[in-house]
Amino acid sequence: MGGIMSGVGKGVTVASVGKILQSRGYKVTAIKIDPYINVDAGTMNPTEHGEVFVTEDADETDQDIGNYERFLDINIYRVNYMTTGRVYQSVIQRERNLEYGGKCVEVVPHIPEEVISRIRKAASKSKADITIVEIGGTVGEYQNILFLEAARLMHYRWPQDVLFMLVTYLPVPGTLGEMKTKPTQYAVRELNSAGIQPDFIIGRSTHELDGPRKKKISTFCNVEKENVISNPDVGSIYEVPLILEKERMSDKIIKKLGLRPRKKDLDAWRQLVAKTKRLKKVVKIGMVGKYFATGDFILPDAYLSVIESVRHAAIANGVKVEIDWLNSDAYEKDKRMVKELKKYDGIIVPGGFGKRGIEGKILAIQYARENKLPYFGLCLGMQLATIEFARNVVGLKGANSTEINPDTKYPVIHIMPDQAEKLSKNQYGNTMRLGAYPCVLDKKSLAFKAYQKNRISERHRHRYEFNNDFRVKLTKKGLLLAGLSPDKKLVEIIELPNHPFFVGTQFHPEFKSRPLNPHPLFKAFIAAAKKHSK
Ligand code: GLN
Repeated sequence: MGGIMSGVGKGVTVASVGKILQSRGYKVTAIKIDPYINVDAGTMNPTEHGEVFVTEDADETDQDIGNYERFLDINIYRVNYMTTGRVYQSVIQRERNLEYGGKCVEVVPHIPEEVISRIRKAASKSKADITIVEIGGTVGEYQNILFLEAARLMHYRWPQDVLFMLVTYLPVPGTLGEMKTKPTQYAVRELNSAGIQPDFIIGRSTHELDGPRKKKISTFCNVEKENVISNPDVGSIYEVPLILEKERMSDKIIKKLGLRPRKKDLDAWRQLVAKTKRLKKVVKIGMVGKYFATGDFILPDAYLSVIESVRHAAIANGVKVEIDWLNSDAYEKDKRMVKELKKYDGIIVPGGFGKRGIEGKILAIQYARENKLPYFGLCLGMQLATIEFARNVVGLKGANSTEINPDTKYPVIHIMPDQAEKLSKNQYGNTMRLGAYPCVLDKKSLAFKAYQKNRISERHRHRYEFNNDFRVKLTKKGLLLAGLSPDKKLVEIIELPNHPFFVGTQFHPEFKSRPLNPHPLFKAFIAAAKKHSK
C-alpha cells in the first residue's frame, strides 16, 4: 500500500519487488486493486487517470498492470485486476442469485471476503508462489478501507504467509534541505488503526534515505531498521530492482516469508540497465497527441506504454531517445507550426478518441509522408494516416472517419457494425473490439521484415475500422494493406512502400513490448529514426 500521496511510483516499486523475487527462482504474479467504483479503467479519462492498459483477455485496466507485465515479462489477466465496482457487482449478483442462503449481506464481512477470494483465485490461476497485491490510493482514504480490512484478515488467517509493505514518500522541502519523516509516521499510524503493521517501509524520495532517517522511521514506525528500504529517484525505472537488491531486499522478504533461499539471477536485467547507461547518440521522437496537459502540468502518463516501448526499442538500437510532447491543437491554430517537425527523426501519433486535435494530427502525418520522416501510427494514428492518404494522395476531398464527421462523403474509416449497435444502446463499458486478435502479414511488407513471421497476435481497443469499400481506390494509389485479419475482412496494418518507415497499426503494439523483449515494430521504427538522424 501507499502512504502520503499518489504518484510516487508504487506500481513500479511493486513490479520491482516482483522482479527481484522472480530472480530468486520464484513464480511471481501481481494484482492491482483500484478503489474507484468504475468497473474498469476503460471509461475513465486518460488525462486524469493515465493510460488504459489492455490485457490479452480484453480487460481494460490500470497502467500498473502494464508495469507488472514489463518487469515480470509475463501476461497478466483479468483476474488480477479488481475495482470497488467489480467487487460490489459480484457480491450484489450473488445476493440476487440467493447464494448467501438468506443471510443479511453486509459490507463487512462480505466485501472483504469477496476481495480475499479474488486474490486467492488470481494467485492460484497463475500458479504463483508469491503474489503481490497493490492496493491503489493512499492509506487514510475512505476509499480503500475495505481493501485494508481484507489485507488485515488475510494476515490474521495466514500470519506466516502474508506480509505488508508501505511505499511512502519522504519529502525534502527546498526551504529546509532536510528529509522529513513525519508524514510517513502519520501514514503508519493510520495503517495501524486499520489493524495493519507494515513489515517493510520503502521510502521513495529525491534522495537516498540515510542512517539517521532510517533509524527514525524504524523507531517510530515499529519496523526493523534493516527493513526500511531506500528507493530514491533514478534515471530509469528499470534500475529500481537493482536499487532494492542493493539493500538485499529479496533476501529479507524470503526470510520473513520463511521460504528457502534460491540462487539469484538478475544478470540479464543488470546488463540491460548497464546498456541503458552507456547510450550516447540521441534520436529525437515527436509524439503528437492531446492527452498531455492538466492546467499547467504535463502528464505523459496517458501514453505510458508507448513511451516505454520507444525506450525498449532505443536500447535495442543502441541509441538514447528524447521524446517531445507535441500538442496537435497548435498545428490547427497555425499550419506553419507543423514545420517544427523538421527537428525530429520520427513521429508517432498514438491512440485517441473524439474530435479534438484531429486536423492537427493529420497535418503532422502529411508532413511525415511528404518529407520521408519515419512515421508510426497507433490505432487512431493508423486511421488518420488512412484519411490523410485518401485526401491528399487519392484526392478524396473531405475524407474522414465517421467518428469525427458522420456525414463525410468519403468515410474511409467507419464504425464496425456490432459497435454501432452497442453505441445505440449506450453500452460503453468494455464493449470495444478489445484484447488479442491474430493478424496475417503480407510478405512484401516492412512489418513482415520486422516480425520475421507472417502470423502475429496483437491487442486491440477501438470501435472504428478501415472501410473496405475504399480498399481498391487506396491500394491503387500505393497504399499497402500490410496486415489483415485471417479471414481478410479487417485491415490491421497499412504501410507506404516508397517511404523509409510509414506504418500504421489498427492494434496497439505498445502493450506487448517488454524491456528484455522489445517490440519488433518499435524496433524497426527506431532503427529508421536512427538512420534518419544521420
Ligand atoms: N477512436 C478510434 C476508434 O475507436 C481509435 C481508438 C484508439 O486509438 N484506441 O476506433
